[in-house]
Amino acid sequence: MNCMAVRWADDIIVIDAGLMFPEAELLGVDIVVPDISYLLENRERVRGIILTHGHEDHIGALPSVLTDLNVPVYGTEFTLAYVENKLEEHGLLDNADLIEIEPGKRFTVGPFTVNPIRVTHSLVDCVAFAIHTPIGVIIHTGDFKVDPTPTDNRLFDLHAFAEYGKEGVLALFQDSTNVERPGYTPSERAVRRKFEEVFSMTERRLFISCFSSSIHRIKLAVDMAFEYGRKVALVGRSMTESTEIAQDLGYIDIPDGTLIHPGDIKKYAPEKVCVMISGTQGEPMSGLSRAAVDNHKHAKIEKGDTVVLSSRIIPGNEKAIYRMVDHLFRREAHVIYDDGSNPPVHVSGHASQEELKLIINLVKPQYFIPIHGEYRQLKRHAELAKGMHGAVGSVMMIESGDILEFDELGARKAGRVNVGRVCIDSNSMGDVVEELIIRDRRHLSEDGIVLPIIAINKLTGRVEGPPEIVTRGFAAVGENGFMNDARNVVVNTLEVSSDEEKRDYGVIKEKIRQDLKRYIVKNTSRRPLIMPVILEI
Ligand SMILES: [Zn+2]
Ligand SMILES: [Zn+2]
Repeated sequence: MNCMAVRWADDIIVIDAGLMFPEAELLGVDIVVPDISYLLENRERVRGIILTHGHEDHIGALPSVLTDLNVPVYGTEFTLAYVENKLEEHGLLDNADLIEIEPGKRFTVGPFTVNPIRVTHSLVDCVAFAIHTPIGVIIHTGDFKVDPTPTDNRLFDLHAFAEYGKEGVLALFQDSTNVERPGYTPSERAVRRKFEEVFSMTERRLFISCFSSSIHRIKLAVDMAFEYGRKVALVGRSMTESTEIAQDLGYIDIPDGTLIHPGDIKKYAPEKVCVMISGTQGEPMSGLSRAAVDNHKHAKIEKGDTVVLSSRIIPGNEKAIYRMVDHLFRREAHVIYDDGSNPPVHVSGHASQEELKLIINLVKPQYFIPIHGEYRQLKRHAELAKGMHGAVGSVMMIESGDILEFDELGARKAGRVNVGRVCIDSNSMGDVVEELIIRDRRHLSEDGIVLPIIAINKLTGRVEGPPEIVTRGFAAVGENGFMNDARNVVVNTLEVSSDEEKRDYGVIKEKIRQDLKRYIVKNTSRRPLIMPVILEI
């Protein structure tokens, strides 16, 4: 979840605080944020959080983290604009201490002098950090690719990396996301060729969907819509907000008269409109998903319209995305998505092998540490660096929770701190979901629920009539005599229990649950959620 602490004696700074969207097995959990108990144990030592850029996997945990630990947050202008929106939503903005930083302008936090270095990525205003510590400089790349032609013309500061390399760098922590890809990641501008093809071929309405944070992509689409005489409508809250921020900060310039309200789309001829719409991942409530099933007030997709999905297909979302694409095909729209063809409709924001090697070559660190990736990616990144004799001293593999200790003698792993995930429901930071609840949800979804219902006479304390068993989603129901036997298990439990146990509903419920569970597991190998219910009559 991209949260790294750098500590010197009694001072700690934190680099990024991201969230993760949960895998399917975390049922019904909306977001996952890092467990920051190490920082809370050291709360009086934490001097601030420094942010590399504004993607969710780097800033998404801020509302939760600042709720528990309100420390200053440092970020570039654009990154802080995203952070402000986010904190505002959670009512945390008034008490937040946000400090704007600029690439190339050093600042100090505790004993550290921090130099933000401009890098290029799929988002704008991104930085790496060179952190000057009493025993040397460490560099954290953040997310990056080496894009020689970014759409905002703000160039990757290769010079800064080279200069640090000349002076000597203790450690380099580098983004591993695309280590499996050979060669170079194409520039954001590579998408322009595809967009030109699309704009010149499209005879009717054009819908373009991308991540709302893909500022380069939105700029490209808006620029081309203007060139091709199309009005632009923004559909979706995140798309609108993000474009507004980019306009305010000068990253996107929409000529007067180009932007129209979504309600006015129908007033223009189909060949005169370009709709920027959110929902590239087939999220069920997104603008594009609703338009795909003709359930959007303003965005109507008709026969002959063109829909462009300018983003990658995030693993795990394939089904939702292709279901949406099918709906679009059913409406007889042309759909253009990332199918590997050239020119590309989407390019990655992360460095491929040759770019990773380039930075390692410039920096020539004593220690190299791969970060931001799954274990296999970290491992391959470590191997790539090991192969660069002369450019790298030693390579260290660390995982979440590992402590890497540096001193005059070098670096070594020095134990672990508690880390983990905190699951949050419905995006409100208060709704932390315990592992236990997730386990219950898993039982429910896989094996269903079994409710033994026992009627007890309130006055006499006696069990009235035979127990009932209600089930939902539990597969063994139909099997011969199974329900009868299950009922007998409950009857038997009640018979062997004392009156005292029967009067204590907590005890008798637990006894019934245990006995029934043993019976069901033994006979069906299933583990439904068993919830005894006592009816007082
Ligand atoms: Zn990123
Ligand atoms: Zn990232």
